[in-house]
Amino acid sequence: MLTARDIHKKYGTIEVLKGVEISINTGEIVSIVGPSGSGKSTLLHILGTLDKPDKGEVMLHDINVTNLSGKKLADFRNKHIGFVFQFHHLLPEFSALENVCIPGWISGNNKNEVKKRAGELLNLLGLSHRLHNKPGALSGGEQQRVAVARALINNPDIVFADEPTGNLDTANARELHQLFFKLRKEFNQTFLIVTHNEELAQLSDRKLTMKDGKIVFEVDLEIET
Ligand code: ADP
Ligand code: MG
Repeated sequence: MLTARDIHKKYGTIEVLKGVEISINTGEIVSIVGPSGSGKSTLLHILGTLDKPDKGEVMLHDINVTNLSGKKLADFRNKHIGFVFQFHHLLPEFSALENVCIPGWISGNNKNEVKKRAGELLNLLGLSHRLHNKPGALSGGEQQRVAVARALINNPDIVFADEPTGNLDTANARELHQLFFKLRKEFNQTFLIVTHNEELAQLSDRKLTMKDGKIVFEVDLEIET
């Protein structure tokens, strides 16, 4: 579903990505591990159309996203791609439900349908009692689950998560990870997750290791066990 070929990226004279190849199937949960500074976030940004490679191409289904720009790119990203970051960036003055709805409303989807899906997502993520609370009244784990629901509101093809559990304790990290699997079961949702958490990476379908700007190691965890 997602294929990237020969991705290169430089910042100044520093070569951050040195020819990354990656390919992800629909419904897969793939994790990326690797040392700090190895280019994981840079790669995720490029795959997620937030940044452009210097060389190489990213295909989502049959669309070459590397060539998109301007409004076309913004619309494409809104419609097809979800993001979860380490820090959730929820809007403090809006309720959990509104935070989830906003990207759907911005996309111009039917207001009530968006609200209905937001309620269903929050329910699925165990937050049906928190719909009308503002982020400040929620725990860290709850806030991150709201961010996951928000990433899913437009029914994206793929969700990119950059250290989504980096700010959570072990129990909450494990729970969030389990929720990714629940969402896969429910929607056949595809996830690409950058993580420092070796235990959670091990639970994915596939674990990719980045080192020095390349994917150096790939483990198919189903075959391995
Ligand atoms: P990781 O997520 O694996 O820790 P990053 O992709 O964030 O790694 O960063 C890889 C390298 O690229 C680091 O050396 C970082 O300092 C550099 N880098 C990342 N983003 C920028 C940027 N916008 N400008 C300059 N250098 C950057
Ligand atoms: Mg990073």
